[in-house]
Amino acid sequence: MIIVMQAGAPEEQLQEVLRRVEEFGYHPHLIRGTQRNVVGAVGDERGKAKLQSLEALAGVESVVPILQPFKLAGRELRTQKTVVKVGDIEIGAERLALMAGPCAVESEEQILATAHAVKEAGGTILRGGAFKPRTSPYSFQGLGEQGLQLLARAREMTGLKIVTEVVNDRDVEMVARYADILQVGARNMQNFVLLHAVGEAQKPVLLKRGMSATIKDLLMSAEYILSHGNFDVILCERGIRTFETATRFTLDLNAIPVLQKLTHLPVIVDPSHGTGHYEYVTAMARAGIAAGADGLIVEVHPKPEEALSDGVQSLTFERFRDLVRQVEPIAKALGRTL
Ligand code: PEP
Ligand code: MN
Repeated sequence: MIIVMQAGAPEEQLQEVLRRVEEFGYHPHLIRGTQRNVVGAVGDERGKAKLQSLEALAGVESVVPILQPFKLAGRELRTQKTVVKVGDIEIGAERLALMAGPCAVESEEQILATAHAVKEAGGTILRGGAFKPRTSPYSFQGLGEQGLQLLARAREMTGLKIVTEVVNDRDVEMVARYADILQVGARNMQNFVLLHAVGEAQKPVLLKRGMSATIKDLLMSAEYILSHGNFDVILCERGIRTFETATRFTLDLNAIPVLQKLTHLPVIVDPSHGTGHYEYVTAMARAGIAAGADGLIVEVHPKPEEALSDGVQSLTFERFRDLVRQVEPIAKALGRTL
């Protein structure tokens, strides 16, 4: 339920509402506005009648039901866009977020060379998996903590922020010690134990859409993270499974305006996994930004032909610089910067 306070209702009246909401066994989420305050009461549907009667309290304008099941991630409770702050970088604001790097951290030489190239091209966040959830158990699984240390070294040398994947709840604390943003991958989008754990972490989360997940599924997964207290969630469209086999996945560009309408959370696009081939990445990066995304995450490798994972979809440094050049005027046309 949403409890809308009257414009200018004094603080004591608001505190009384918060007290009662808690007394009924609900979690109050207070959103302070310039005109009026709004309290979201999230919890068991069965106490609705009690909440409804709060309309009789002094200072309360109305009590209305939340219509979407993603109460915290939806726009009903929080109409203004969330800007996720990662140090001095803002995701969801005017400047687009540019995340790039290899699929997996493979060696010091590889990650440092890539970090410098990403920085030079205008990127602000370095990606790279230390823990890789691979389809085959025989594929390269990542360097583990050593990979995280290499990422931390790359951050030290370049000032780039780090986004890296965490694949299970037991590793969240360790990965959070190194990472600036915790990535939850497509294959783990509905790993609810992991979502709970990152919801309690003190780091922003990049939540990738599962390859067979609907937009609503994605928002319900975000809801798990938000409901455990972490509101710094960035959503990522990375392609879904369709009948099409000419590309690895089908990048669902529809999801971008739909998500921008349904949620206040920032939305970025991954044209690398979305297409699976380097030749299509730049075109879909342009399209993603044109559709209204708040940023990009792109795979870049010094020698894609030698990559231990996702080489075919990885851009060389030169191709990545070209991508940035091509996306820039589109960003500008939309009143955004890169
Ligand atoms: C990745 O970012 O390298 C990755 C594994 O992505 P996804 O979870 O979208 O497949
Ligand atoms: Mn990858």
